[in-house]
Amino acid sequence: MLNFGEAQQRVLAMAPRMGAERVGLEEAAGRVLAEDVLCPVDVPAFDGSVMDGYAVRAADFAGDGPWEFPVRGESRAGEPLDALTPNTVARIFTGAPLPAQADAVVMQEHVERDGDRARFTRTVNSGHFVRKRGDDLRAGSVAIAKGTRLRPAHVALAATVDRAWLTVTRRPRVVLLATGDELRSPGTPGPVGSIAESNTLGLAAMARRAGATVAVAPLVPDDLNATMQAFEAALADADVVISVGGVSVGDHDRVRPALEAIGVQLDFYKVAMKPGKPLALGKRGSTVVLGLPGNPVSAMVTFAFFGVPLLRAMQGDGDPLPRSWRARTGRAITREPGRLEFARASLVREGASWIVTSLENQASGAVAMLARANALMVVPAERTELAEGEDVEVYLLEELGA
Ligand code: AMP
Ligand code: MG
Repeated sequence: MLNFGEAQQRVLAMAPRMGAERVGLEEAAGRVLAEDVLCPVDVPAFDGSVMDGYAVRAADFAGDGPWEFPVRGESRAGEPLDALTPNTVARIFTGAPLPAQADAVVMQEHVERDGDRARFTRTVNSGHFVRKRGDDLRAGSVAIAKGTRLRPAHVALAATVDRAWLTVTRRPRVVLLATGDELRSPGTPGPVGSIAESNTLGLAAMARRAGATVAVAPLVPDDLNATMQAFEAALADADVVISVGGVSVGDHDRVRPALEAIGVQLDFYKVAMKPGKPLALGKRGSTVVLGLPGNPVSAMVTFAFFGVPLLRAMQGDGDPLPRSWRARTGRAITREPGRLEFARASLVREGASWIVTSLENQASGAVAMLARANALMVVPAERTELAEGEDVEVYLLEELGA
């Protein structure tokens, strides 16, 4: 059985890189940038005022105040004033370019206005209330680096540097296959013992959040031929085929034999983790196959740690793995050692610390517990108990995209 970290590395190593495409900025959030976006000009492009007030020349404030100067015009956003002459000031508003020769702004609350003259009682330093040209970004610098997963702030920044479109990595196409004679579509009647198919709904939502397009294939019965045909059809139009169920070693588990029969090279099929021991990774041509266990919690947890990073790596994301945080355990637990465990847990803030408490029902089919949890608490493989107040690693379900 492979350990968790090695299995994750093998998944990343197998990730084929998607090609690139152009998208308009309105489509760009959540995509991975496939180019360095350069800043063509200084941002901001001119020295500007950050206050409503008066543009002045600090050098004019010699000797003891108060000082009085004539007001020579007005500079406002979109309608600048070209220059100041010595011993004059200009009315200026937030965001407006500073007139040439001016080097500071005095806020209007500190100025007495009398007709076309302005009176100042305190001195001012050069640069005061001025946002300097190039303060945010310098011309020629990289505004957004290749491999960045674009957040709304990156989209706004791309627009700021005058880009209307970006080159991003193409979305991987995912085909999802649910296997099992007991499955029926949710909301439809079925015989006693049938269950509503839930995995593809949860997994499709996760895969879309990870940047993929998703198609869900018809339900696959526990039959070798049907399973082979279903995988053949899925492989024909997917970058990644993800199956759920039937991947273990029971009499009715057809996924591994079907994959072997149609020439998918299996890299591994068991990972020492809980939930989710049976988990298959394989490849045929450039298409990756991930066989997830059928229990709903196992399916979503394994997809979070293997499927989502795979889809991110395929898009060239420079940081595809989920991040973990530290917290203190809210109560002691005892357990069977052997597999790295991701316990469904509740993470809350108490005073200055984050406290993580595992939920009572850790069954790998207990999807209500996964929905109620907001975190997964990591229990190292060899541990048989954790004490109350121990420092542990946690993953946030929101960040895992589950
Ligand atoms: P399997 O991995 O096929 O042995 O399935 C393990 C458990 O998960 C069984 O109780 C299945 O009924 C259940 N299961 C498998 N696939 C799904 C699915 N797509 N949706 C909901 N439950 C499933
Ligand atoms: Mg099954």
